[in-house]
Amino acid sequence: MKLDKQGLNTICAHLGEVPDDQFKGAVSPIYLSSSYEFMDVDVKRYPRYFNTPNQEYLVKKIAGLEQTETAMIFGSGMAAISHMFLAFLEAGDHIIVQNTLYGGTTNFIREEFPKLNIEFTFTNGYKVEDFEAAIKPNTKLIHIETPSNPLLTITDIKAIAKLGKQKNIVTSIDNTFASPVNQNPAQFGIDLIMHSATKYFGGHSDICAGAVAGSKIHMDKIWNVSKNYGGSLSDFTVWMLERSMKTMGLRVKAQTKNANKMAKWLDKQTFVKQVYYPGLKSHPEHKLAKAQMKGFGAMLSFELIDHIDSNQFMKQLNLIKASMSLAGVESTMLSPTQTSHALLTAEQRADIGIADGLIRFSVGIEEAKDLKADITQAINTIK
Ligand code: PLP
Repeated sequence: MKLDKQGLNTICAHLGEVPDDQFKGAVSPIYLSSSYEFMDVDVKRYPRYFNTPNQEYLVKKIAGLEQTETAMIFGSGMAAISHMFLAFLEAGDHIIVQNTLYGGTTNFIREEFPKLNIEFTFTNGYKVEDFEAAIKPNTKLIHIETPSNPLLTITDIKAIAKLGKQKNIVTSIDNTFASPVNQNPAQFGIDLIMHSATKYFGGHSDICAGAVAGSKIHMDKIWNVSKNYGGSLSDFTVWMLERSMKTMGLRVKAQTKNANKMAKWLDKQTFVKQVYYPGLKSHPEHKLAKAQMKGFGAMLSFELIDHIDSNQFMKQLNLIKASMSLAGVESTMLSPTQTSHALLTAEQRADIGIADGLIRFSVGIEEAKDLKADITQAINTIK
């Protein structure tokens, strides 16, 4: 039985271990060398060529989890996205991107693409018809994000992949929110799967990294561009990431279970106006999420009723941290308006439905009863 055909936690724990032939240690050795032999070798290794031993092995785990031929690791999620885009787009080309998207990606496109003469269209919605309507003769890439940050909208992955194949357009997805534990877009025919590995891959809020997975042909194109931009990750962090990913299946499943409980509970509270979570039957794309996700994920957003100030509420939390980023084993909350989507104008945020009072909740592994108690005491304090 091939290892990458094994179960989730076996892949997480074992695939892509660097063999320790000398000492037979239980974990991968770490190779920090930035200089390797160049004569009489099959591979000329160099950190910026993404081919040091730790990088070469870790991508096997990522590709195994995403069920692709290969993968690459980058210095951040934004490095992964930008190198992926730049590998498939040149001056005169056009990209279609989903309107509900991580703010940093939106900002990258709006600020950098005009300088490079790359055309872009943000869709009007996230249905396949919205993407189809935006196709032009020079469209080279369609990029989706599902579930999206921060409103957890769900895009039909299979329909987008089919559209791309029909029109000969490469398709990519930001799979950060779901993680490979909850969603495998390659199964539905998407060409490129990217992650902010800062999130569930790392899982302990102490690593900044990114990843892209895809076929050898597509990844070779990305490699060709990336070696010039130089966005590789340090081998020490690569090693940390491998260690963290050993528990990704366990962590994300526990977090997903907790998020389901928290979404259902929040939905019943009188101080909550609306909960955004694909696992709720009231979510407009609940059925689609059920069809394409293995679990609904551990991210949710909610709005408090009008007279409760979300900043005051978050200041009163004791256990849940009001903190940037997401996906750590510890629960965190933030205001997208002040953080992930701060670079968008108020009008751009309003267009995609991000209210100023929206709270994004990254659910950790704590006991759900303790999370509920913390939220309840924070509300009672400011009432
Ligand atoms: N994609 C999503 C969905 C994100 O939430 C983020 C960061 O929050 C990124 C990409 C960018 O990742 P990084 O901060 O690792 O560059």
